[in-house]
Amino acid sequence: MTRYHIALINGDGIGPALAASAKTILETINDNSSKIKFTIDEVEAGDGALVKFGRALPDFSMDIIRKSQVCLKGPVGESAADVIIPIRSMLNLYANIRPAKSYPNIRNLSDKVNLVIVRENTEDVYMGWEFNIDENTVIALRLTSEKASRRIAHYAFKTSMLRNKRKKKVVAVHKANVLRKGDGLFAKTCRSVANDYPEVEYSELYVDACAMNLIRNPEEFDVILTTNLFGDILSDEAAQVVGGLGMGPAANIGDHFALFEPVHGAAFDIAGKNIANPSSILLSTKMMLEWLAHKYNDENASYEGNNIENAITHMLKQNKKTKDIGGSLSTTEFTKMVSSLMH
Ligand code: ATP
Repeated sequence: MTRYHIALINGDGIGPALAASAKTILETINDNSSKIKFTIDEVEAGDGALVKFGRALPDFSMDIIRKSQVCLKGPVGESAADVIIPIRSMLNLYANIRPAKSYPNIRNLSDKVNLVIVRENTEDVYMGWEFNIDENTVIALRLTSEKASRRIAHYAFKTSMLRNKRKKKVVAVHKANVLRKGDGLFAKTCRSVANDYPEVEYSELYVDACAMNLIRNPEEFDVILTTNLFGDILSDEAAQVVGGLGMGPAANIGDHFALFEPVHGAAFDIAGKNIANPSSILLSTKMMLEWLAHKYNDENASYEGNNIENAITHMLKQNKKTKDIGGSLSTTEFTKMVSSLMH
């Protein structure tokens, strides 16, 4: 029997309801399986922690995260950047992974989308290097290094190799015609890494063309490899292409640790109403189990991850859905039904 220690951040807005849903499903696995068990350590972080302790990510919360094997996180509100950015940098979570997949009975632009965005997570304008030249003029610096570009490019090609696609493709997305030096370096590095993966078809797209093709031919994409800001924008677009933010999981991955979370924010407009779609955090939980399966060579973790996704797909096939995707089930009803379909 393998036991995994999971740090669970509840978050704000709809975060606690989603975290409770994930907890229910992990406890279902605890009950159903004799081969795999989870110990869940709840972590205080976000707007609530800021009010209570004066810091969005207190040291004792970070200690719990460090002692765990993996972290699952509900969306955080106003203090989101003060939670996720320090965790990413302290644990060197350099790859941001955002899949977009068509599920049955959800209004989408195509039924055949199955793509993943691999976004560099440590550089670009996210360094926060903005300076006033004078009162009315700001200059922002954008960091691009060969080292980080190479690391994320390898991650993207390895992701493509592991995916169950007949035709493996990586497209590097940039704007090297304008950002000649920074994106020029990114593109040149991706091209050189592509030589190590002859089984994967490599191409490049300017970010504007990629934004357009995501609407025009979303099913053509396999792995999109891109920089931090472009990846942020394209992944929200991709989530809408397949039916909305409520279905969108995400991962922040490093060499030794990983954090999984929904793509969306705290959605305060629907908080406390028991109507949020928990699929985003449940599909994030599935990604977490896949990551544990890969890291610890544990096929039971992989089985349970597929179990979660199959249960959600089964629900959708029967048109059992939450409000955001055209149904009428509450968060707790949806979770309970997913739990009862797990075996
Ligand atoms: P942020 O700036 O942190 O991304 P935001 O308020 O701009 O936050 P989100 O919180 O990500 O945006 O969500 C946008 C809208 O999408 C919400 O107002 C909500 O109506 C809807 N939404 C997001 N997540 C879900 C979900 N899991 N279930 C149902 N609706 C959702």
